[in-house]
Amino acid sequence: MIYLKTDEEIELLRKANLVVAGALAEVAKIVAPGVTTRKLDQVAEEYIHSQGCVPGFKGLYGFPATLCVHGIPSNYVLEDGDIVSCDCGAVTPEGFNGDSTYTFCVGNVAEEVLQLLRTTKESLYVGIEHAVPGNRIGDISNAIQQYCERRNYGVVREMCGHGVGRKLHEDPEVPNFGRRGTGPLLRNGMTIAIEPMINMGSKNIITERDGWTTRTRDRKPSAHFEHSIAIHHGKADILSSFEPIKEVLGERFI
Ligand code: MG
Ligand code: MG
Repeated sequence: MIYLKTDEEIELLRKANLVVAGALAEVAKIVAPGVTTRKLDQVAEEYIHSQGCVPGFKGLYGFPATLCVHGIPSNYVLEDGDIVSCDCGAVTPEGFNGDSTYTFCVGNVAEEVLQLLRTTKESLYVGIEHAVPGNRIGDISNAIQQYCERRNYGVVREMCGHGVGRKLHEDPEVPNFGRRGTGPLLRNGMTIAIEPMINMGSKNIITERDGWTTRTRDRKPSAHFEHSIAIHHGKADILSSFEPIKEVLGERFI
């Protein structure tokens, strides 16, 4: 069941997403070699609470943390050349979810990995361009898939975007692959998270025994960027924002 949102609900979703944007900017301030992923999680959680919201993922489906680093934040110490995707959610007191992801560089990252990050982020915006009333979910999916596969990247199949609202995950699913003209019709009032997960190598991933840690089967890098958007007044209105991250990273912003 797809829930269409009122203008007021869309503004509450924007509020939640701007808190997520701020939390990711706090992460941006400290991402560096030598920092643990648990520390990233702590600063995100503290920021979300400071804004009167609560973390959206903590406790959901039994997940124990604020950030999903495509695994559970841990004592893993970030190393020069790593990339770390930080998927973050926040819930407003009114009960609306923000959901956005940014993949950060740690120190000096190889040019081919930077190119993977750029392409993944570009594919997110290409998908968003197709999120207009009258199109279908498959138009978003196909645009992302074509953009990435033409550049010889693998598009993860097992995880996808989704409707977002009072629940973090609502209908419809928003896959990052598919056929044009298929899937649910896009209408004003729909709010969805679009989140391409793109691999440098093959599309195949495996989930480790903790049930949360996912990695590429070939152990090549994978990137993930996510915006929550509303289809609103005939166009895509991006509710989340990377601007606070850009302000922190300056020239290092991808
Ligand atoms: Mg997310
Ligand atoms: Mg999501």
